Amino acid sequence: MSPTQPDHLAALRLAVRRRLLPWFARHARDLPWRQEPRDPYAVWISEIMLQQTRVDTVIPYFQRFMKRFPTPAHLAAAPMRDVLKHWEGLGYYARAHRLHQAAQVLVRDYQGRLPDDPALLAKLPGLGPYATAAIASLAFGHPRAALDGNIMRVLARLTALPGDITRSATRRKLQHLADTLLAPKHPGATNEAWMELGALVCTPRNPRCSACPLARLCKARAAGRPEAFPQKPKKKKLPHKVVGAAVILNRSNQILIAQRHPDKGMLNGLWEFPGGKRRDTETMAGCIARELREEMGLTLEVGPRLVIVHHAYSHFTIELHAHFARILKGRPLHLDCADHAWVTPDQFDAYPFSKADHGIINAMRALPRPPRQRDYF
Ligand code: SF4
Repeated sequence: MSPTQPDHLAALRLAVRRRLLPWFARHARDLPWRQEPRDPYAVWISEIMLQQTRVDTVIPYFQRFMKRFPTPAHLAAAPMRDVLKHWEGLGYYARAHRLHQAAQVLVRDYQGRLPDDPALLAKLPGLGPYATAAIASLAFGHPRAALDGNIMRVLARLTALPGDITRSATRRKLQHLADTLLAPKHPGATNEAWMELGALVCTPRNPRCSACPLARLCKARAAGRPEAFPQKPKKKKLPHKVVGAAVILNRSNQILIAQRHPDKGMLNGLWEFPGGKRRDTETMAGCIARELREEMGLTLEVGPRLVIVHHAYSHFTIELHAHFARILKGRPLHLDCADHAWVTPDQFDAYPFSKADHGIINAMRALPRPPRQRDYF
């Protein structure tokens, strides 16, 4: 059978209503954003947080976020630093910036509520086709089929879909399939049931086909190789970057931190121990001194190393060398950063940092006492 064979499609459509939806009603996890009646704001926040992030990781973030920003109006009025602090560690920080911008649009144009119209939802900052379909169906009951990684995997396996899943032609076929299989009276439940099946049963590794309500109709299972679908290009080895960071102490033993530009690059708007990528021919001290000259106009003496932090991002890995330093000449300028602050270690918690920079903070907190300039220079 080809993936589009009408008999198979008709059987799947029937099975969605007779098997998948009842399975979902029995097995749906009790998640904090699934409280009935659905709050569109909670659906929105959860869907954005769940992009690229696992449910277990998202739950505590969602609960803290909703407590601090219970409505779009609270979110719109909050300082961005506060929003980032509640996003700290969740990654993909552009999501937090877009949420904040979208909340301001909701307050300005929609009386602080999400619009009950997929076309208007799609215009909000940060809402792509997936999030628009998810919110439109889950919060408002519009017949929109969402297509996330879990759903693509399940559908590709059910139909043994050939073709690289990263290609737009393959995705269009999957979207067509998801649209065709959507139970028109239960669009939100259909979307969530696919997601749940992908998360609990049809997992990337070792899918539990014996527990799957659609096993009898699954072509990848019939072929004996469910993990062969969806087809993906071979993973390339991630590039590795060696980065230097300065823990700059002043005579009052405060530490200089810098804010990354809020509107460009990754980790945007977060605070950091300033520094940057080492060039091939540089020593680590040379790298840190050059970076601080370029970024903040400072001439430094670079001292001993505090720690090396290893961290993996989605597209590369880093090895972050943090060294103590002191300023020989200059005052901090914002040549390639948005802001700076002098803080003591007990003030770090007021600022959002990346996970890698938290490795530096942890190393500092593990010292027998807070660092002092005279201990290292
Ligand atoms: S039978 Fe197995 S591979 Fe097929 S959809 Fe179910 S869990 Fe996934």
